[in-house]
Amino acid sequence: MSRGEVIYLVWNDLVGLSRTRGVPIGEYERRKAHGLGWALAGQAMTPFEDIAENPWGPMDEVRQIPDEETRRRVLLRPEHPALHLVLCDSLNPDGSPWECCTRSFLAAALADMKAETGLDLHVAYENEFALFGEDIRWAAPFSLDAARRIAPFADLCVAALIDAGAGIETFEPEYGVGQFEITCGPAAGLAGADRVVLTREVVHEAARQSGLRSTFSPKPAPDAVGNGCHLHVSFLDADGKAAAYDADAPGELSTVAASFVAGVQRHVAALCAVTAPSPISYLRLGPHHWSCGYDIVGVQNREAAIRICPSPAAEPADRGDAFNIEFRFTDATASPYLAIGAIVRAGLQGIRDGLPRPDLVEGEPDDLSGDEREARGIGRLPTSLDEALDAFEADESVKSWFTPTMVQAYTALKRHEIRLYAESRAERMCERYVQVY
Ligand code: GLU
Ligand code: MG
Repeated sequence: MSRGEVIYLVWNDLVGLSRTRGVPIGEYERRKAHGLGWALAGQAMTPFEDIAENPWGPMDEVRQIPDEETRRRVLLRPEHPALHLVLCDSLNPDGSPWECCTRSFLAAALADMKAETGLDLHVAYENEFALFGEDIRWAAPFSLDAARRIAPFADLCVAALIDAGAGIETFEPEYGVGQFEITCGPAAGLAGADRVVLTREVVHEAARQSGLRSTFSPKPAPDAVGNGCHLHVSFLDADGKAAAYDADAPGELSTVAASFVAGVQRHVAALCAVTAPSPISYLRLGPHHWSCGYDIVGVQNREAAIRICPSPAAEPADRGDAFNIEFRFTDATASPYLAIGAIVRAGLQGIRDGLPRPDLVEGEPDDLSGDEREARGIGRLPTSLDEALDAFEADESVKSWFTPTMVQAYTALKRHEIRLYAESRAERMCERYVQVY
């Protein structure tokens, strides 16, 4: 190990980017208890070079305090410095969570879910991304040829993800040019979100060390295939039994899971401002992209915002294990902590209110007439960030899950991105998001 090795303290901010300050390895033990300071206004940084309007100005700072459980040292190539990082909570000087800490936001939502329902949430992500480089060209979608052309990258990346404990389960070519997908297995709440952050950083590192560039941006170009970041959720009860599953219920969705899903569906338009939070997210969302365009729930329906994923097991006794609920209106410009946290808050409110089970929709909503859609309460998801943010700002319940300061800082950031997008061309903005996500 080189004495020049740097351990990076990493936090995922309101715009879903991993920001960092580093500590030479010899300094780390001395530093880790109090972490490093970070100006409050740093949380108002847009994905680009500017800082949005914010309540903090030049005053005060948070401490970025490492969570040792998340420390990873990944040596991809012996001749290249190891990727050494640790994820942080943003805490006040007195050690309490800062009101705009994304990781603490998720931890609090999960704790409330557990306290009120006794359920632990397990989450898994599908991570779609695109590679760029001289040799990345069109290959038949999902083909072995597409996979084998980037075999050295895949090998490096998979090994690094195993070493990082990211729970990698599959690596596959996707539909688009240079598009691939990595799925990670489920992990309990916060650890599941940590995995997503780690996975993205490891993929970027493997690409850098392979002479490639990688992006998880939802739309690398206006006409490119979109990168989704579908979130899969399951519940475990106190005995570790799958609690979202009920063999006898419609869609095999247990009563508690049905109310959770109905809670998310009720607020889905406002939630989009958090889960699909960039202007270019709406180039991806929409019917016929297999992302999702309608606010519906369906079993195995890839046009649904919320897809129920049955288990592949034939034996009823085993069907609870892999059974899960997929939220498809999510992409990688969202902080996974905010996205999961907001979905948990919406679901928990649905459970508290005892919401009835949602209507399960089969097939394409576009095949129904406008009247049929209206009669069944089927609506389009927002078609722009502007529309999603209007829904967010009008939804007092959703806003109440965040502190007023967080709402103020978040909406200012997002309005800023909307302005940038309106002043530029879609192609150019897609390029800018590729550079950072
Ligand atoms: N690329 C699609 C999306 O943007 C997802 C395709 C799939 O289901 O794997 O969400
Ligand atoms: Mg996919």
